[in-house]
Amino acid sequence: METEVATARRPHVLVVPYPAQGHINPALEFAKYLASKGVRITFITTKAVTKSAKSSLCGLLTIVDVSDGSEDVKDPESIEGYFKRFKAVFSKNLARFIDEQRDAAQVIVYDSTMPWVLDIAHERGLRGASFFTQSCAVSAVFYHLKQETLRFPYEDSVVSLPSLPALGTKDLPSFLEFTDPKQTIPTVMADQFSNLEKVDWIFLNTFDKLENQVVEWMASRYPIKTVGPTFSLLQMDKKLSNSKNHTINLLEPACTEWLDSRETGSVVYVSFGSIASLGKKQMEEVAWGLMTSNCYFLWVVRPLEVDKLPDDFTSLASEKGLIVGWCKQPEVLAHRAIACFLTHCGWNSTLEALSCGVPLIAMPQWVDQQMNSKFIEDVWGVGVRVKRGEDGIVGREEIAMCIKEVTEEDRGMELKRNACMWKDLVNEAVEKGGTSANNIEDFVSKLMCISG
Ligand code: UDP
Repeated sequence: METEVATARRPHVLVVPYPAQGHINPALEFAKYLASKGVRITFITTKAVTKSAKSSLCGLLTIVDVSDGSEDVKDPESIEGYFKRFKAVFSKNLARFIDEQRDAAQVIVYDSTMPWVLDIAHERGLRGASFFTQSCAVSAVFYHLKQETLRFPYEDSVVSLPSLPALGTKDLPSFLEFTDPKQTIPTVMADQFSNLEKVDWIFLNTFDKLENQVVEWMASRYPIKTVGPTFSLLQMDKKLSNSKNHTINLLEPACTEWLDSRETGSVVYVSFGSIASLGKKQMEEVAWGLMTSNCYFLWVVRPLEVDKLPDDFTSLASEKGLIVGWCKQPEVLAHRAIACFLTHCGWNSTLEALSCGVPLIAMPQWVDQQMNSKFIEDVWGVGVRVKRGEDGIVGREEIAMCIKEVTEEDRGMELKRNACMWKDLVNEAVEKGGTSANNIEDFVSKLMCISG
């Protein structure tokens, strides 16, 4: 057991994720890895999130909450109202938390969608590191939106941006009902590129070989460092399996022992992430598409989405599939029974699938997902994109056909080969001497100097 004095001598980093599942996961994995390298971490998030943490302590990592005021919200909030209140209350309480800390931190790593954290940090003598949780390619598009070298709503049917493949409007980030660049969601995305001239580090949850050209291009503008996939960093170290299990799930994960009884490569895993909400008609088409395919399926349907399933579907499908409200996705994707992943192409889901060598059926919904699906199919060759009908719905036949293509045909073999190649490249990036591991090593050495 280390003495308090020795612990106090270690570098101390505050990690502040944006409080949504897709932002918490990569930041927590990064934080746990830093802790495994001897850095003391205070992982700061909101009350609603800390409630879901199994324990507030994991080795050198402590999870604490700072109020964002959501516990006092009585009426439904607009998106604008939510972001305004979140920034006002969370930033005030974060500043107070830092001021009152007995043992001061040297650095704050904050989610890139919260660029205002940097000012709080600098005013208190801390250095700041912005942590990007989307791909470098998508970040580059947001950079262009910020610089207005790309205008939203998109004006051209095909857009040509430096170091990126030609992108059709359907490949570019979409903001659904937000059609004005000044509205909250487009502004929050573009504003990840505000305040960066003053930042001390910029970390991207990706790896060099995955996005070679655009990483180089971005590095010629900003001091970026790739550190991903953060989800895979600890997988490399079997000794750390304990902290590997230290996760925060905002919904309770169901047991997936069901997978153990399935044959190797016989199950389609289906999930649309933690936010995307499909319409009732679309849910029905997915349901019947899964039923008519030749595979078993494991489908994550969050509790608030269950009403959109066809009547009695759970019992009708019980021979063929299992529906759960949430699962431990990384474990599911690593299971030998998984043949492919029907996904909304969130960035974490994409990276987790690549890390596990699982081919994808891409059914993107919004923001960065379209662009991720373009790369999945056309650049990395690890999946197929579904085609939507004229009504915008992906029909049951299309879903069944994509499953067949990815699991049975020659194309499926090729996708699997490519997915396995990317799995090897992920390992190369995160193991000792790999690009992401080296970038983190470098950061840790700097932390040791600052704190020493
Ligand atoms: N996830 C999970 N269990 C589920 C569904 C999702 O643990 O049943 C995790 C998944 O592993 C990923 C995150 O939730 O780390 C979702 O992030 P992503 O960027 O893929 O999508 P988002 O939810 O942000 O749209």
